[in-house]
Amino acid sequence: MTLPRIRSGIALSAMAVLAAAPAWAHHPMGGATPATLAQGLLSGLAHPVIGLDHLAFVVAAGVLAAPLAGRFLLPAAFVVAGLAAALWHVAGFDLPAAEIGVPLSVLVLGGIVLWGRALPAQLLAALFALAGLLHGYALAETVVGAETTPVVAYLAGFGLVQYLIALGAMAATRALAAKPAALARAAVGAAAVVVGLVQLGLGFA
Ligand SMILES: [Zn+2]
Repeated sequence: MTLPRIRSGIALSAMAVLAAAPAWAHHPMGGATPATLAQGLLSGLAHPVIGLDHLAFVVAAGVLAAPLAGRFLLPAAFVVAGLAAALWHVAGFDLPAAEIGVPLSVLVLGGIVLWGRALPAQLLAALFALAGLLHGYALAETVVGAETTPVVAYLAGFGLVQYLIALGAMAATRALAAKPAALARAAVGAAAVVVGLVQLGLGFA
């Protein structure tokens, strides 16, 4: 197990602990249901970033997918399953145990990163799809009862931002071997930019 792996594992474990705290930080706009396309989109973009359990999962997913040939498909499995489960939730159907399943999925994935062993792509794809169902179902809670336009915008927002975060984590992981110092700088810079964009976006919502 390399030092970067240990570090990211510790960071993810810390995030998982935070994620187990009440969901106070998950919902922009004070948890109000988005009523417009812009509100739906911004809420969808923000929720997977400020909801640390969702963020920790997609970052870990990107880290685990990084060395694999099918790396661009793996986070897509998570996102597509998430969109399906979100539609399921919006349509009024139930998914038992999603509340507990989301933090559990983060702990499991953080544990796999800590463990440091490469898993076969098929196993990761199954794991990501299963976790995607849980996270997507939980993410959709925000738009249950909203109009069609903000719902579609919200789904587009969270699908897009999750895929982009996974891509970022992948790129960072692949760069890690080459230039650790540059990577640390890039990570801090990217984190600041993301937080700034989210806060700015929420100011307009
Ligand atoms: Zn959430």
